[in-house]
Amino acid sequence: MAYTPALARLIELLSRMPGIGEKTAARLAFFILKSEDGYTAELGGAIGRIKQETTLCSVCFGLTEADPCTTCTDDRRDASIICVVEEPSDIVAIERSGGFKGRYHVLHGSISPLDGRGPEQLKIQELLTRLTDGAVTEVVVATNPTVEGEATAVYLARLLKSAGVEASRIAHGIPVGGNLEYADQATVGRALEGRRRM
Ligand code: ZN
Repeated sequence: MAYTPALARLIELLSRMPGIGEKTAARLAFFILKSEDGYTAELGGAIGRIKQETTLCSVCFGLTEADPCTTCTDDRRDASIICVVEEPSDIVAIERSGGFKGRYHVLHGSISPLDGRGPEQLKIQELLTRLTDGAVTEVVVATNPTVEGEATAVYLARLLKSAGVEASRIAHGIPVGGNLEYADQATVGRALEGRRRM
């Protein structure tokens, strides 16, 4: 049996997603096809609206619906410490661990000369701007333990030193080459607790 054009189209679109091969895409497509109309309408609507309803916080560059985000405006969070991460999804991983009560800053990538990604493509200048009023005393660099993440951490440490801010690096509970996003809560919590000065 050949797929109908509509099914083939949906399978092709789904298979572009990370970690989704053609087999899984086909399973998902058949699941969607068999689902109740209410579910498919909600799913379609949620996908259609996600980009309009999600923006970047102008302070931390995390994902938010309202700018600035609730993390940046929450007075109960410690404004003297900023945790720097590569991607917005890393904030979710750290929040799940419950081990951090400061603010965040999302770089939107890591330094990777091979991919043509230099410091100027990341939100590094924006981070330095946040440090100018002296309210921030510590920056925890929580970039991933990959070659690019480490290179970014070393680069940041130098800048933070000249800005007069203490820089620390999360401990290596996260497997080398691993990703914060996929580490379990306890590991992320321990990595934060065991952070050391750079
Ligand atoms: Zn924010």
